[in-house]
Amino acid sequence: MNTPLYPLFADLRGRAVLVVGGGAVAERKVEALLHAGALPRVGSPALSPGLQALATAQRIQWLPGRFDAHWLAGDIWLVIAATDDSATNQLVAAAAEAQRLFVNVVDDAQLSRFHVPAVVERGPLQIAISSGGGAPMVARHIRRQLEILFDRAWGSLSALISRERPAIRQRFPDPATRRRFFDELLEGPLLGLLRRQQPQAAEAELQRAMASTATDNRGSVVLVGAGAGDPGLLTLNALRALNQADVILHDRLVSDAVLQLARRDADRMEVGKSAGGHSVSQAQIHALMLEHARAGRRVVRLKGGDAFVFGRGGEELEFLRQHGIAYEVVPGITAALACAAYTGIPLTHRDHAQSVRLVTAHCKQSLDTLDWDALAQERQTLVFYMGVAGLAQIRTRLLHAGRGGGTPFALVENGSRPEQRIVTGTLADLAATAEEHRVKSPALLILGEVAALTHELHWFGAAPLTAGPTPSLSKKTAAAKLANAA
Ligand code: SAH
Repeated sequence: MNTPLYPLFADLRGRAVLVVGGGAVAERKVEALLHAGALPRVGSPALSPGLQALATAQRIQWLPGRFDAHWLAGDIWLVIAATDDSATNQLVAAAAEAQRLFVNVVDDAQLSRFHVPAVVERGPLQIAISSGGGAPMVARHIRRQLEILFDRAWGSLSALISRERPAIRQRFPDPATRRRFFDELLEGPLLGLLRRQQPQAAEAELQRAMASTATDNRGSVVLVGAGAGDPGLLTLNALRALNQADVILHDRLVSDAVLQLARRDADRMEVGKSAGGHSVSQAQIHALMLEHARAGRRVVRLKGGDAFVFGRGGEELEFLRQHGIAYEVVPGITAALACAAYTGIPLTHRDHAQSVRLVTAHCKQSLDTLDWDALAQERQTLVFYMGVAGLAQIRTRLLHAGRGGGTPFALVENGSRPEQRIVTGTLADLAATAEEHRVKSPALLILGEVAALTHELHWFGAAPLTAGPTPSLSKKTAAAKLANAA
C-alpha cells in the first residue's frame, strides 16, 4: 500500500528538538534544525568536534550518555534518531512513539514517523521533495535539477511580496480580483528586475501595478482542447489557461492526469456526456458558462482532444458570441492524431494514402447521411470517431460500397493512456474482432492500408492484438502456427 505522506512545514522556532547521536549525521541534522530556529538537544556519550563547538557556544544543549527515555519527557516537540546503532535507533523510535512524539530515524523509512525532505531554498520560498522515504536518491536527483532550473530571484520576489502583502490585500479586498492581480504581476517584469539586482525598480514596478486600475475584471471563457489523455499532449497555452482558471467545466473524456495539472483551488465541474447517458445537457453547459463568465470569473471549458473536432466547440462559441462573452480557443491534439502517433500509424504514408478523413459514426442517423461510395475509395485513410456499437454497420456499408474485405484496420482503445490497447484485423472481420477483444469506449477506428503498419511501428504500451484463438501471440507466430497445422 502506498499511502502518501502528509506534507507539512513545521515552525520550530524556540522549540526543543531531541537529536540522539553525536556523529557527522547528527551534526548535519543539528545544523538544519538551527537554521530553522529550533533548540537542539543532543544526546550522546561523545560529540563530534563540530557539535562540541556548538555546545561550547551554547547553541545546543548536550545530554551526555547513552539514550535514556527521560530525554523525551518535558518540552520536546520532535525527535531525530541519528546514531549508527540500529538497536538504539529502535529504542528511540519506540520511546518516541509511546509519547506520541514524531520521530525520524535517519535512513530508516519504516521506523520514521516523519521524513525530512530534500529541499530547494530561495529565501522564504522552499520546495520540499519526498519519495515517501523509499527512494531518497530520486528526491536528491530532482533537487539538484531544480537547483539549476529554479531562478534565484524567486527568493527576493517572495520576500518582496510577503512584505507588501498587507497593502495588496487592502488594495484588492476581493479574493478573485486579488488573484488576478497576482497572476498579472507574476507574469510581469518583476522577476527580471530582481534577477538584474534592481530591487528599487522592482519595488517601483509593484507600486505602479497596485496603483493601476487596469486589472481586468471581465469574465471570459477559454475553450481548451485537452488532448487525448496523455497530459504531455497539452499545449503550453492550455496549461496556462488551466492555471489561471477560476472555474473548469470539463468533459468526462478529460483524463485525471490532465486535471491534476489545473489550479488546485479552481472550481471543477464535470459536465461530460457519455454516449447515450447525457449527464448535463448542452443547454445547461451554455447556461453554466454564461453564469460564471457574467460573475467575472475566468472559465475554462475543457474538452477531450480538440474542441472543434466533433467537440461542439462551434456551438459553444456561437452561444458566447450571442451573449457578448469574450472567448479564446486553444487547440488540442485530437484523438485521430494522438491515436495514430501512439500506435505508429502514419495516417498519410505516401505509399498507401493520399488523404485522411475524420468521420463521426455516433448514431444511426450520422451513418445514414454519410457518402459511403466516397468513403469506400482506395488510397485514403478513414478515421471513425464513434461509439463501438456502430462497427457492424460500418463494416457492412463499406463492403457494400466496394471497399476490399482485406483492408486493414486498427481499433485504438484509450489511445495515449497507460491502458491503451490496439486491436487489429481486416475489414471483413471488423465487428467480430472488436467483440472478441471486448473493445470499449473511448475507442477510435483507423481503417486503410496504413493501419497494418502498427505491427511494425508501434512503440507505446502493449503490442497490437489480432483476431484468433491466442491473442497474446504475435501475428507472425500465429501465422506460422496456422501454416504448420495445414
Ligand atoms: N473532440 C474529441 C472527440 C470527441 S468525440 C477529439 O478531438 O478527440 C469522442 C470520441 O473520440 C470517442 O468516442 C472516441 O472515438 C474518440 N476518442 C477520444 N479520445 C480517445 C482516446 N484517448 N482513445 C481512443 N479514442 C478516443
